[in-house]
Amino acid sequence: MSVATHPEHGVRIATNAPIPTWFGIGGRAERFAAPRSHEELLDCVRIDPSLRILGDGANLLVDDQGVPELVVSLKTPAWERVHIDARTGRVVAGAGVSLPRLIKSTIDAGLSGLEGLGGIPATIGGALVMNAGGRFGQIGDVVQSVRGVDRTGLDAVRDRREIPFEYRKSGLGAMIVTEAEFLLAPANTEKLRAFHREVMAYKAESQPLNADSAGCVFKNPTLHADVEGIGPKGARVSAGMLIDRAGCKGMAEGGASVSERHGNFIVTSRGCSAASVITLMDRVAARVLDTFGIRIEPEIVIWRREP
Ligand SMILES: Cc1cc2nc3c(=O)[nH]c(=O)nc-3n(C[C@H](O)[C@H](O)[C@H](O)COP(=O)(O)OP(=O)(O)OC[C@H]3O[C@@H](n4cnc5c(N)ncnc54)[C@H](O)[C@@H]3O)c2cc1C
Repeated sequence: MSVATHPEHGVRIATNAPIPTWFGIGGRAERFAAPRSHEELLDCVRIDPSLRILGDGANLLVDDQGVPELVVSLKTPAWERVHIDARTGRVVAGAGVSLPRLIKSTIDAGLSGLEGLGGIPATIGGALVMNAGGRFGQIGDVVQSVRGVDRTGLDAVRDRREIPFEYRKSGLGAMIVTEAEFLLAPANTEKLRAFHREVMAYKAESQPLNADSAGCVFKNPTLHADVEGIGPKGARVSAGMLIDRAGCKGMAEGGASVSERHGNFIVTSRGCSAASVITLMDRVAARVLDTFGIRIEPEIVIWRREP
């Protein structure tokens, strides 16, 4: 890897840079930037309007061949600012802010709304794009507005009513999210802490948190027809349960395996290739389809070169 200031723009660009993800595997970025200001972010857009934004890499698998687009991280002080108004419940956070850190700060400030998202590794930008959440709520429920820039470098502001939040989906992907505003409710800090501890205990109990993974690999599918023993048409059912009942726990490919603790987690070991994870995902999805006639779709984002 080498780093140099771009000849026409002020931003520093690293070449052949590793892309840090929670899987801990995958290819490199031909070009990587961590802009330190709005102007440097605009430089990035000018250099490559197709740039890819990296959050915390917690929902991401990068193909072994890496990616040619400029990869941009907003985990720099310019996008790690947080403003909390405990009186009104208004919270403004930059896209690079760590979600677990914001949860802790809002609990300390006696504000409720984010504590149910405990145990979800993310930046605020990545959490919004993925509408991160689970059985204790989702981030789209408490966001008021999202700011960012579009691929031409123009500022964009989206009110929550304009954002089509759905299960693990926001429609925000094309925008470069730089900041979000939340409206939280006043609450007792000790009660919030106790609830947050419960959420964390539930996660620790049900998920392999000490292994390298990207959380749930597949989305929970909605049934298109009644499936005996699984659920009625229209029900959203757990992909982990389907994977488990199809007998996939423990299935392995290269250094990737289906977690014994949570069927919807694929865990990786050092030296594992992204190709092994993709092959294992295909095998799991095929077995679930064979067993139940139910198609499961990836929840994780896969970055790969366009053919
Ligand atoms: C142990 C573990 C447990 C998990 N548990 C949960 C869970 O309970 N619920 C859940 O929903 N998820 C869970 N996940 C998945 C992950 O935490 C979420 O999807 C999270 O929202 C990813 O955020 P990120 O910042 O890491 O985004 P990344 O993985 O870095 O990126 C995800 C996508 O968002 C885009 N993106 C990121 N930031 C921006 C931005 N600023 N502007 C535009 N696009 C952007 C990226 O380009 C990419 O397409 C878990 C993951 C792990 C490893």
